[in-house]
Parts: sequence; C-alpha cells; structure tokens
Amino acid sequence: MDSGIHIVGKSGYRDGFSTFNPATGETLANYQVASVDDVADAVARARLAQLWWSRLPLLRRAAVLRRVAKLLCDAREPLARTITSESGKPLQEALLNDVMVAADAAVFCAGNAASVLRPQHIPHSNPALRFKRSQLSFEPLGVIGIISPWNYPLSIPAADVFAALVTGNGVVLKPSELTPQTALDFEALFNRALDEEALTALPRPFQVVIGLGLTGQALVSSDIDKLIFTGSVATGRRVAVAAANRLLPVVLELGGKDAMVVLDDADLDTASSAAVWGSMMNAGQTCISVERCYVHRSIYSRFLTLCRDKISKLNIGDGSLPGTDLGPLISLAQLQIVKKQVEEARILGATVHIGGEPLPNLGPNFYAPTLITDLDHSMSLMREETFGPVLPVMPFSTDDEAVLFANDSEFGLSASVWGRTATPPPSPVALPQVLSWSMTSSPPLPSAPHRTAASRRAASGAPMAVSACRRWSAPSTSMSISFPG
Ligand code: NDP
Repeated sequence: MDSGIHIVGKSGYRDGFSTFNPATGETLANYQVASVDDVADAVARARLAQLWWSRLPLLRRAAVLRRVAKLLCDAREPLARTITSESGKPLQEALLNDVMVAADAAVFCAGNAASVLRPQHIPHSNPALRFKRSQLSFEPLGVIGIISPWNYPLSIPAADVFAALVTGNGVVLKPSELTPQTALDFEALFNRALDEEALTALPRPFQVVIGLGLTGQALVSSDIDKLIFTGSVATGRRVAVAAANRLLPVVLELGGKDAMVVLDDADLDTASSAAVWGSMMNAGQTCISVERCYVHRSIYSRFLTLCRDKISKLNIGDGSLPGTDLGPLISLAQLQIVKKQVEEARILGATVHIGGEPLPNLGPNFYAPTLITDLDHSMSLMREETFGPVLPVMPFSTDDEAVLFANDSEFGLSASVWGRTATPPPSPVALPQVLSWSMTSSPPLPSAPHRTAASRRAASGAPMAVSACRRWSAPSTSMSISFPG
C-alpha cells in the first residue's frame, strides 16, 4: 500500500502530479500541470466566452444554473464518490455538504440574481440636477479567477462560480492539487448544462486549470479582473501581496478558530451532540468547525461525560464504506499539525479524555477523535487553526467571561451560542470578531452570510450568495436628462 500521503514527485513541479486516496493510499490519477501559458490561454478563452455569455438575458443564464442543479442531483452518487476518494470525507458528507450545498447555491443564484442585480434609481435633492435621473446598474466585471481548497472541493468553488457566472462573468477555477477530479467533473457537468440549454457556442465561460501552487500564482498574475482565494492564512497572505503588486481586487476567505459557547441552561444532550458533530465533521477540516468550546462551570462535568460517550461511539474508517462517521485527515502533513498541537498542550498540562493519538493501524492519515481539557489560551491548540478531529473544552463562570474567551482570537469566521431561548444568550454584538453567528451548527445556507472574513484584522469578505452577485459586478452610474413637457 502507498503511504497515503499526497506526494508530488520532483518532476511533478514542472509537468505532472498524482492524486491519492487519503484513506487507502491508492493512486487515483495523474495530471498535467497547467503552465503559465496554459493559464493565460484559459483566461483568454473565458474572456472570449464572456462576450456571448454576458449578452444572454439573465433569465437564460439562470436557466443554465437550474439545469446544473438538476444535473448535480442526478449525478449525486458518482460525484460524492469522487469527492470521498479525493478528500477522504464520508460519502454522506460528500453528498450533503458538497453536492447538495452546490445544488442549493445554483438554485439560489438562479432565483435571486435578478433582484440582487436589478438597476436602482439613485435619489437626489440637488436643485441643479432637477431634470436629471440617475440609475445604478451592476455590470459584470469580466473574468473572475477562483482559487479553492480541498476540504469542500465542490461546494466552496461552486457557490462562487455560480454567483460570478449568473452575473455575466467568465470564470477560471484553479482547484486544490489534492482534489482536481472533482473540479473537472464539475466543469464537464456545467458544459453539459450549456448543451442541454442549446448554448453550444465555443469557448465556454467556465474554465478549469489544474496544477500546483505555481498554477495558482500564474492565475493571480494573469489577465483576470478579480480573484477570490479560499485557503490558509499563510497562502492568503502571499496571494494578497501578489494581487496588491498588480492592483488586482481580491477577496480572501481564510482560516478560522471558531468558538462554541454552552450556557448553563442549554439542553446538554443537543449541545454535546452539536459540539461533537461541529468539531468532528469532515474530520474537523472545516473552516467553521468548532475549534474551541466554552462550557458553563455548573454543567461542565456532565457535558464532558456526554461528549466522551458520543465520541467513543464514532465509527472511524474509509469514508466510502457504509456506516463510517469519521474519515482520515487529508494528508500526513495535516496529521502532523494536529499531533503537534495536542502533544504541546499535553506537555503544558492538558488532559486527554479520549483519543489524542494517530491511528496507524487504519492508515497513516488517521487521527483518533479527541476530547481535551485543562487548557489555556497560551497553547497553540487554542490559538492556531487545528483542522483536525479535536474538541478542546474550557469552563467559564460568567457569560461575560465566555464572551472574553470567545473574543480572544485573531480569527473571525463564525461562532455559536447554546442556551434555552427563555434566557437570551450573549448578544452577537458582544462577540465583535464574529461575522457570522448562529444558534445552531448546520451546513451553510446559500442565502445567509457564512463565509466571510479572513481574520478580524483582515476582514475582506462579504456574505455568500445574497450579495455575492454584487461582488462580481461593477456598479456603474448612468444619468439621463428629462425636461418637463
Ligand atoms: P492552501 O492555502 O494550502 O491552498 C489553497 C489554494 O491555494 C489551493 O488551490 C492551492 O493550490 C493554492 N495555492 C497554493 N499556493 C499558492 C500561491 N502561492 N498562489 C496562489 N495559489 C496558491 O489551503 P488548503 O487547500 O490547505 O485549505 C485549507 C485552508 O482553507 C484552511 O486554513 C481553511 O480554514 C481554509 N478555508 C477557509 C474557508 C473560508 O470560507 N473562510 C473555507 C474552507 C477552507 P495547491 O493545493 O495546488 O497547493
């Protein structure tokens, strides 16, 4: 058996690379790396296609997205299998959190783009402009570059692809090197939707370029008009610098260290299930995972018992097998990060209640689901993104202390507060770094703000689908003169 690590050979950096199933180590496929010229060609094709695509009435573009949603639902099983084989996540998660979220986003963009992009009358009261009428309209920007990560290889790029396309843009997507097949299947499915809508003009407005980090760099330096990058803080910083050098507008969707607060009157069975699900789903490799859990001291010990019990029942293994709750981590490198943070916390006095170690008998990328306490905010486990199946729990004594703990982070994606509705929870306003706040943990809604800021210091995002169409458009003002009579 292969080591199960995603290995790129030396020559891979020039011309090709392989993908591996993170659960089994099986080699999945070999790919050619798109060169700088290949990327430039893809951008040029998208630009040419944008000419015919943007001239279609919005209703026709929306019809293509509705067709895409139907094709996604029809092809849900094979798509989910590809996602599971590349990312390791259990099949049911691939189905619900990738395929269905993507279909939902397509339907949402199709149904709401017209109202979001409707031209607006601009009121004014300047007597000098008495006979002038002004209007704000939203024009497509041109070609949008999208660089996406491996953890939600379909739903993350799809939401941006749909919003950019329905607005009338061309799109060039560079997926993670770990999950290229999912992106290629998505591109093929979109092209099929065009065919089925009798839109056979070439080139196509949605292009995918496959490659490594250098291919991503080539996209940042290419002739695109705006970029959305979703990935780690470290790469996001590099992308921001490269984009700034060429004054390219860029949206960054980076990492998180999301807090979950459990108040003293919370339903403990529900809250403990949410904590386990929120921290273990996709083996904890979700930007809005529960990465820190703060529990009122009066219920702390009962909460821990429930979490420990629920974690002990998780079925760990190959995500393609029925009944698997928790798959492997994406790579050995990711496993090393998780291992290092847990070991460091343990050395500093933390208590591991369950898990806390790799599971080499299952494969090199498996890590045991872990419940850990006796922590403080000096530990990297409580400060840095873990991205693994780890639930760190700390007690608090007052709601104010919980808010202080939750806010003690440089990240700011989402948070959740658990309590009975009879007692108002700490206001989301009291969690200033939290840009998306919920009373539950759930798959993302295309209609709700979810993917937002990079970090509280570098918040650059915007709500997902509600205004996503607007961020892929250039607001332009036109003025007309109408004299009375
Ligand atoms: P990375 O930052 O490693 O990679 C993200 C993408 O950038 C990949 O396609 C990668 O290609 C590409 N890339 C790498 N180097 C460069 C470069 N120099 N220039 C341009 N592109 C480059 O992130 P991961 O794929 O590991 O994703 C996990 C991270 O994503 C986590 O931190 C997670 O929190 C974050 N994330 C944030 C979300 C949000 O909405 N805020 C949602 C989901 C994830 P390649 O893979 O080929 O190296």
